[in-house]
Amino acid sequence: MEQIQAVLPEWVEASRRLTERGKVAAYIPELAKAPKNALGVFIVNMEGDSVSAGDCGLKFTLQSISKVFTLILALMDHGEQTIFSKVGMEPTGENFNSMIKLELVRPGIPFNPFINAGAITISSLIRGDGPIEKSARILQFFRHLASNDTLDYDLDVYRSESETGFLNRSLAYYLKENRVLNAEEDVEDLLAVYFRHCAVKVTCGDLGRMALVLAGDGVDPLTGKAMIPRRHVQIAKTFMTTCGMYNASGEFAIHVGLPAKSGVSGGILSIVPGRYGIGVLGPALNDKGNSVAGVDLLRRLSHAFDWSLF
Ligand code: GLU
Repeated sequence: MEQIQAVLPEWVEASRRLTERGKVAAYIPELAKAPKNALGVFIVNMEGDSVSAGDCGLKFTLQSISKVFTLILALMDHGEQTIFSKVGMEPTGENFNSMIKLELVRPGIPFNPFINAGAITISSLIRGDGPIEKSARILQFFRHLASNDTLDYDLDVYRSESETGFLNRSLAYYLKENRVLNAEEDVEDLLAVYFRHCAVKVTCGDLGRMALVLAGDGVDPLTGKAMIPRRHVQIAKTFMTTCGMYNASGEFAIHVGLPAKSGVSGGILSIVPGRYGIGVLGPALNDKGNSVAGVDLLRRLSHAFDWSLF
């Protein structure tokens, strides 16, 4: 940890320069307010020692990073056979909100649980009597994983996405038309669950703490508590590696070589299995939708400390 702390502040400042080349996501209007030049990182090890640098106190919404944990909760609710009858296991090569591949894949199920169509399908599989109970179960699960009972929604971001998320609405209706969603599924209720879990507000510290449970294969190393079956972490880690960084997942595997998931708010959750949980925030995104400075910082760290799994 001392070695990492010794270089971290300087490398955050070096990577921060790249934020000039990126753009903050604006298709959810509320996200456009994020500070473009921010960059923060938090790294925690299996003993609970942590290092951080930059703007790691800033709060941001999980967005697509939440998909890792809703996938896990759905797996815990139903088992992998049911989940994989509804979503596939393959990267798409298309944008995260694309409809194109939905029309091509047979029997008409989304390619994977991290594209929006797949994640909306996963949200429909969370157990609970109605949207309020489903959302409450999801939030409770996130709070447990982050060891933070104060995690909550950013309601401005939630409303902003709910008022403008017409493409996600279209995806959901398309899924319903194709019977991926049940006939009785109310699309607006379902989208409320989906938009809410995307709008859970965290810091890099929360993200790193959630990642630590994945780094421990589902056992929280700081409490010894078994939180997720190992097999479900294995599935989540595999998707993080193959589809976690949108259409730059291959490039990220080559340059960084760690399971990771990014979101349009500029967050990245990553793990060094058995060693570290990592949370990064850098709202300026590159043309693939990943934090431009965040990816650069992870690349520096992975090279220097030989973290690549490959
Ligand atoms: N809530 C966002 C959406 O559905 C999540 C997208 C992302 O982070 O990739 O558009």
